[in-house]
Amino acid sequence: MIEGFASRAARRRVHMLPFKLVYSDDYFLPIGSHVFPGEKYKRIHDRLIEDGIAAPSDFFAPRPATDQDVLLVHTPQYVHKLKTGTLSAREELEMEIPYSPELVRAFWLAAGGSILAADYALNDGIAISIGGGFHHAFPDHGEGFCMLNDIAIAVRCMQRDEKIQKAMTVDCDVHQGNGTAVIFAPSGVPGNLVGMGAAINHAEMARARRSSTDVFTISLHQENNYPAFKPPSSLDLNLPDGLGDDEYLACLGDAMSLGFSKFRPELISYVAGADPYREDQLGGLSLSIEGLKARDKLVFEVAKAEDIPVMVTYAGGYARRIEDTITIHSNTVVAAKEVFGST
Ligand SMILES: [Zn+2]
Repeated sequence: MIEGFASRAARRRVHMLPFKLVYSDDYFLPIGSHVFPGEKYKRIHDRLIEDGIAAPSDFFAPRPATDQDVLLVHTPQYVHKLKTGTLSAREELEMEIPYSPELVRAFWLAAGGSILAADYALNDGIAISIGGGFHHAFPDHGEGFCMLNDIAIAVRCMQRDEKIQKAMTVDCDVHQGNGTAVIFAPSGVPGNLVGMGAAINHAEMARARRSSTDVFTISLHQENNYPAFKPPSSLDLNLPDGLGDDEYLACLGDAMSLGFSKFRPELISYVAGADPYREDQLGGLSLSIEGLKARDKLVFEVAKAEDIPVMVTYAGGYARRIEDTITIHSNTVVAAKEVFGST
């Protein structure tokens, strides 16, 4: 029998990447036939190996987050409801995915994956979890296909363990990161809201700076889209319908340089949603597949130039052809390889 390259690489522990990918088959979200393709994680994993981008030995399996980790962000009441299956019908409806104990386990694992990716990123400069990015989860409830906010849990774990003090989230999913914005907003202090119409100016940024203490949140999203109410991030870019590659990349570059002019994080949490894609069923921006890869490269180039570790999670992606979603997410690893070099 002829041994395939993948199995040879696995046997010899040959790494094709100079950084780690965090992944488990159990990232699968058991939500049945749903606009969110719960099987996308495995398909990304398989594509990365088939295309020779990564070897099996580049993937590292996470453990589930502990309840203590989860409770750094979520309320005990909410965690109790999830663990005992006692969400109300309305709460389940708001989450927009069907509750099951298996789904709870998948979200605890996704949170564990983001924690591990944060840890690896701090060691290696970058790490990617082939999952996570559930930015619509609030401390006391889930929304928009998100049960736990793994982004916030990972950041809070790094702070608790005194590995970092300050972090920046760069959320490029087409939908605003409402849960993340609320979790990291200092209580009682309004954040900032910057539309495309209003120029991003330094007075606005000064306000944003005051409202952000230990985590600076940046969200680039389509204004005319879910969530209807957008609680303020430190910096929100409300983008107009149909925005294309060049304008989007200019906005992202501006947002990051303004963020860095006011705030110095020790970790960037990049939320690499695939849904700004022009063929997305739940998005109304017009980025191309190449534009999305350029977006990823821009974030990585800025992180590298600023010498700040970056962890990546995947969030949404609802392309009419699921193959496109898989390509966009796989390209994030390719972009990281191009920026951070290969071994
Ligand atoms: Zn989204």
